[in-house]
Amino acid sequence: MGRPYRRCELCPRACRANREAGERGFCGEGAALRLASASLHRGEEPPVTGEGGSGTIFVTGCSLGCVFCQNRQISRERMGRAVGTDEFAGICLALQHAGAENINLVTGTHAAPALRLGVERARARGLRIPVCWNSSAYEAPASLAEAEAFADWYLPDLKTLDPRIAGRLFGAPDYPQAARDAVLRMTQARPGRVIVRHLILPGLLDSTREVLRWFAERLAGRALLSLMTQYTPVSGIDAGAPPRPLSPAEYDQALTWLSEFGIEEGFCQERPSGAPDRDWLPDFSRPNPFPSSLSTPVWHWGQ
Ligand code: SF4
Repeated sequence: MGRPYRRCELCPRACRANREAGERGFCGEGAALRLASASLHRGEEPPVTGEGGSGTIFVTGCSLGCVFCQNRQISRERMGRAVGTDEFAGICLALQHAGAENINLVTGTHAAPALRLGVERARARGLRIPVCWNSSAYEAPASLAEAEAFADWYLPDLKTLDPRIAGRLFGAPDYPQAARDAVLRMTQARPGRVIVRHLILPGLLDSTREVLRWFAERLAGRALLSLMTQYTPVSGIDAGAPPRPLSPAEYDQALTWLSEFGIEEGFCQERPSGAPDRDWLPDFSRPNPFPSSLSTPVWHWGQ
């Protein structure tokens, strides 16, 4: 793909920033691949975590703008450092050596070309484990084409199909159309190797119902659903983010819709119990951004 960072259209924002020349678009990133951390992560879905943990690599920058983002330090505040292709490959191999079940690339849409080069270099140097493309699904054809060159599994979000919610909470009213297109393309590229994640937003259950209905109609049998209940209010409340965690009644409501729409295969986080579990919230300024029960660090931007 030519020079993808020259007039960047890697995500639907299509900023056309000349990232080669140092310009930065909405995602905040130039042409260099920058990472925040790499670790064995044990908080993913069971087949992703496996026995050894998922080799999770957090990419700095993000093309979406979720007002309640829990990874704000890296998505908006640019925490991380540049790594070259060889160093990236070395990080992948270190994760494999540490026992990772897979390489799990988190939110790499805006860096897809560099990640493709890095994975190809890692494979040439002995990487054997599968690679997962863990994405917001706010993707454009350009980034999807890059990911298709190397991704074995897809872990896309499907945050909402309501343009008003997408505009207000994610800064992207075009998210629903882009995400629908992206998820359908992923299931065509890797049938049966897609796990669609939906985080239930407290107080916005109609949005969850619409996502579940669409999943049942368009993806059942070709993808697994992962229903997530871990929403924790930390920021963005002034901007309209839900100010509270999910209630047990809302959780039960979502489960009834799984039955109503016949969604039987997939994963569901446990019922929320009272106060939000802030242990899940990462701090990327620490060598291990997550609690040690969840994560074993292998690489950190500050090292
Ligand atoms: S990846 Fe970044 S620079 Fe490129 S179009 Fe998206 S927000 Fe703009």
